[in-house]
Amino acid sequence: MQIPIYNPRPQYDALREELEAAATQLLASGAYVLGPTVERFEQAVAEHLGCRHAIGVNSGTDALIIALAAAGVGPGDEVVTSPFTFFASAEAISLVGATPRFADIDPETFNVTAATLEAACTPRTKGLLPVHIFGQGVDMEAVRALAEQRQLVVIEDVAQAFGARQGERYLGALGDAGAHSFYPTKNLGGFGDGGMITTDDDALAEKCRLLRLHGSNRRDHHSMIGYNSRLDAMQAALLQVKLPHVAGWNRERQAIAATYDQLLGDCPAVTCPPVAAHGEHIYHQYTVRIGNGARDAVQQALQSQGIGSMIYYSVPVHRQPVYAALQASCPIAEQACSEVLSLPMWPGMGQERIAQVAESLRAAL
Ligand SMILES: *Cc1c(COP(=O)(O)O)cnc(C)c1O
Repeated sequence: MQIPIYNPRPQYDALREELEAAATQLLASGAYVLGPTVERFEQAVAEHLGCRHAIGVNSGTDALIIALAAAGVGPGDEVVTSPFTFFASAEAISLVGATPRFADIDPETFNVTAATLEAACTPRTKGLLPVHIFGQGVDMEAVRALAEQRQLVVIEDVAQAFGARQGERYLGALGDAGAHSFYPTKNLGGFGDGGMITTDDDALAEKCRLLRLHGSNRRDHHSMIGYNSRLDAMQAALLQVKLPHVAGWNRERQAIAATYDQLLGDCPAVTCPPVAAHGEHIYHQYTVRIGNGARDAVQQALQSQGIGSMIYYSVPVHRQPVYAALQASCPIAEQACSEVLSLPMWPGMGQERIAQVAESLRAAL
């Protein structure tokens, strides 16, 4: 049995008629970029996540860039983020002309903490960019307290955590702005690239709307230098169909994780992900640690049995060639990179596949 690390097909199969009807309707509408279909989806996301504004953009990367630019982050500023994330979290900081600084992670959650963020702050720090890695939230109450004390803006990278609650609210509604991704493998995955900025701040939302559209809010009038970063109406139409199901899919991910926990919990060579300390964990990835230098051999053994797995992340961002000159030191992130392995995780994968993955992993060890 071949088991890929991710497979979006069951979601498509379950909603096929609705998705195809939405696509056909959109094709006939003649309005393919922004417009009423995107506005309707923006409103639905804002309602779903309980925030005042949602602004659709091209990608999660652009959501980060535009949120940072709208918050006034630019040349001379520093923004503190995680080294244990997809490259785009730091790249966005560089693309607005600022410099990333890297806060080491907590060894259990793989997330930055208010304490590690604070340790990386300098007098030039203008903002914090916590990443809710693998679908588990950074402790935002503590991050907000730090931001208030030091007068910093907070942009949440929610690319891996759409629909995760923390306390009474959703991630992405806890900082000054949240940046979401609808890349096909994300918890709310589209059929191409797409992203969204969420915020409660009216002025910030207005700036994001300007920036995604060449700094313009009416034809032939440009008040800022902006970007071309509009959300396609086709993505909005298809995501609108998927949105009501994302909570159920996230619960299914939690059930799959609980089964993995049960099947692997007594295995001394494997460290299962921790039970969420701050709100819920929606398992964008189910990521275990395999120590003693055995990780790569285990991955190969799984591969030979047809079981997909991925190393998120094999190189921490601060060790990427482009950031090596910053000479950041994050030993906990570095160790994590040598031990982590993400296992197959997708709604619809079913008990049999979960058991097969666990059995093969035990055999490989
Ligand atoms: C996927 C991802 C992004 C970028 O999103 P795109 O839509 O691919 O541009 C940013 N940060 C994290 C943590 C991600 O996982």
